[in-house]
Amino acid sequence: MQKESSFNESLLHFDRDHIWHPYTSLTNPLPTYPIVSAQGVRLRLANGKELIDGMSSWWTAIHGYNVPELNLAAKDQLEKMAHVMFGGITHEPAIRLCQKLAEITPNGLEKVFLADSGSVSVEVAMKMAIQYQHAKGQSQKNKFMTIRNGYHGDTTGAMSVCDPEGGMHHLFSEFLPKHFFVDQPKKRFEESYEEKELANLEQFFRLNADKCAAFILEPIVQGAGGMWFYSPDFLQKIRKLCDEHDMLLIADEIATGFGRTGKLFACEHAGVTPDIMCVGKALTGGYMTLAATLTKQHVAETICNGEAGVFMHGPTFMGNPLACAIANKSLELLLNSGWLERVKAIERQLKKELIPIANSLSVKDVRVLGAIGVVEMKEPIDVPKAQKFFVEKGVWIRPFRNLIYIMPPYIIDEKDLNQTTSAISSFIISSHLCLLGMY
Ligand code: PMP
Repeated sequence: MQKESSFNESLLHFDRDHIWHPYTSLTNPLPTYPIVSAQGVRLRLANGKELIDGMSSWWTAIHGYNVPELNLAAKDQLEKMAHVMFGGITHEPAIRLCQKLAEITPNGLEKVFLADSGSVSVEVAMKMAIQYQHAKGQSQKNKFMTIRNGYHGDTTGAMSVCDPEGGMHHLFSEFLPKHFFVDQPKKRFEESYEEKELANLEQFFRLNADKCAAFILEPIVQGAGGMWFYSPDFLQKIRKLCDEHDMLLIADEIATGFGRTGKLFACEHAGVTPDIMCVGKALTGGYMTLAATLTKQHVAETICNGEAGVFMHGPTFMGNPLACAIANKSLELLLNSGWLERVKAIERQLKKELIPIANSLSVKDVRVLGAIGVVEMKEPIDVPKAQKFFVEKGVWIRPFRNLIYIMPPYIIDEKDLNQTTSAISSFIISSHLCLLGMY
C-alpha cells in the first residue's frame, strides 16, 4: 500500500475557484475528486481510497495506468530529446509511428499528418477535404455533410459538424459555418437496412452534394453525441454515395480506434475504407496528447498539385518525439497483447451483466459493443450524485445526460469488471427506489 498523500485543502479551494475543468462552471462548480496516482486499472484518491476505472480516462488508457513498458519508452526518449520542431527536421519516433499507422489502418491510408489532439486532427481532415476539392477546380464544394447527434471535438471547425441542436455547441450556431445534417441512423448495430429504407439518403446527396467536400462521421459508434451504435449498412451506403457524388469520406476513429469496438478500427465492421481517417485518444495509451490524420495517395497528390502546392497546416508540437515514442510502444503492446480476445471477453461479460438491467423501469435501453457498455436511462442523471454513489462503491464512472457508460482498460479482469457493472446495477436499483419514493 502506498502512503496516503497529504492533499492540501487550499489546493482544492484554488481548483474550485480558478480552474476550469471540462464543461464546468466557475461560479457553481461541481465536486472534483483529487487523484494522486494510478496503477493498473485503479485510480488512487488523495484520501487513499482506490477506484476501479471504468472510463479509461475518456477512451485513452487501454493498457491501464503506470505501465512499465510505456514508462520506460518515455524515459528512454526523454534522455534523447523531449521535443524538436518538425519543420525541416525529422526523427525516428515519428517515422516509425507513421509507418505503423499506415500498416494497420485500412488499405490505402498511407499519408500521415501528426496532429496534437483529436479536435486538431478533425480540423486537419476538414482542411484536407477543402484543399482537395479546391485543387480539383471545385471550390464550390466547401461544406460538409454529417450525421445528427455526432461529436467531433471542441475547436471551431469540429464544432460546426457536431450536432447543431442537441449537441454541446448550439450556443455558437450563429458563429459557426452551416453544414448539412442527415438523420441519425435508427437501426442498431445488429440490424440491417433494406436498400429502399436508405433511399432518402440518395435524395439528400442529390440535393446537396454539389456544395459538399466530404461526409464526416464517427463510424458505427456515435460517442459524446449519445453513445449510439448503428448499422454497418448505413456506413456502406454513405461510402457508396460519396463515391457517386465526388465527395470524400472522413472517418473520425478518435474514440473507436485501436480495438475498442472489437475491430482494430470501427470502419472494418462495414468493410469500408474512408478517404481520410482521424485517430487519437488511445494512440499513446493515454500517456500524452497525440493524434493523426491519414489519407490516400490520390488525395495527397491532388492537394499538393493544387494552388497552394502544400498542405496548409503545421502545429508547433507536431510530431512531438516523446508522444511518438510512447505511441510506438503502446501500439506494440496492443498488437502483441491478444487485444481481440480481451475485448471479446469484456464484451461477453458486459452483455451478461448489463443487459438484464434493461428490465428496470428507469432504464430506456442497454447496449454493448466491444469493450463499451451503455445504459441509457429514461431521465437525465444527477451527475454529482451518481459520481458520489460510484465513488462510494469503489468505481470511477462519469455519466452524462441520461447515459451511464463504461469503456474500461482492456486489462481489466473479470472481478474488477463485475464490481463496475454491479455498481451500475446498484445505482439503477437506488434510482428505481427513488422513483417509487422509497429512498
Ligand atoms: N472526435 C471524437 C469522436 C471524440 O470522441 C473526441 C473527443 N471526445 C474528439 C473528436 C476530440 O478529441 P480531443 O478531445 O482530443 O480534441
